Amino acid sequence: MSSASSAPPAAPSEPLRLMAVHAHPDDESSKGAATTARYAAEGVEVLVVTCTGGERGDVLNPSFEVPAGHEFETIEGRRAVRRLEMAAAAEALGVRQTWLGFVDSGLPEGDPLPPLPEGSFGLVPPAEAAAPLVELVREFRPHVITTYDPSGGYPHPDHIKCHEVAVEAYHAAGDGSRYVVEGGAEPWEPLKLYYNHGFSMARMRAVHEAMQGAGLESPFGDWIESRTAREIPEREATTHVAVADFFTQRDSALVAHASQIDPDGFFFAVPRDLEADVWPTEEYELADSRVPTALPEDDLFAGVREGDR
Ligand SMILES: [Zn+2]
Repeated sequence: MSSASSAPPAAPSEPLRLMAVHAHPDDESSKGAATTARYAAEGVEVLVVTCTGGERGDVLNPSFEVPAGHEFETIEGRRAVRRLEMAAAAEALGVRQTWLGFVDSGLPEGDPLPPLPEGSFGLVPPAEAAAPLVELVREFRPHVITTYDPSGGYPHPDHIKCHEVAVEAYHAAGDGSRYVVEGGAEPWEPLKLYYNHGFSMARMRAVHEAMQGAGLESPFGDWIESRTAREIPEREATTHVAVADFFTQRDSALVAHASQIDPDGFFFAVPRDLEADVWPTEEYELADSRVPTALPEDDLFAGVREGDR
């Protein structure tokens, strides 16, 4: 894929490409999953990039059974199981997926917080952490990149680091004087950068109220009222992508992460027809654009598609 072409991006007949950069296997299924399924179904080339192997994720599903021939006690064992799960999730979404190869930092807990484990993604120096993603951007040549906002979306060190490497790759991949790799791919300048807004308070409030209105128990009540939630600054969504037709694929992808996602838990507490009625979109925040576009948008490729320019 290292063509020497310097043709403008999205030239006629060239397929559109979307790169979704995530911290751990399962994040691609809980943040913007239906969007990736929709674009893949429309013929966009979609590549999910997973920064770490999820090696420090605990079992979060009480009904999880370790697959035959595997174990979940060691870093290597967890990595192998989560690779199986990730492959099944990518298949459910109809997308390609690849790994950056860093090691999960785990979510540090305690006061004071303990140091991050040696060798983990959170401790990798910035340029070293961004280098493999810069190279991947040059190889895959995405028109659009999605990742997390500067807070990481929630305060996991790998999510914050994921934001940092994605922003760095977005800005550096087109500059041939940076991240020079002998025999590497040609520079490539992506056109738009977005932050995922999957867990917006506006969405949770709307779904919460609709569930109460329907006499159902809402999974969001405690969270909406909590101090932590109220202290998270609301960020502005610029882009609303209609994805209700892809909720089923999203749910299949979530279930594929059997060690992490409880099929009777939080993610499945909202009836899908209610969700499709109340909140049929996934939200994004346009962080940077190299093409003209008018906000709000309903398409990550607004301004990029043939005919837009
Ligand atoms: Zn994560």
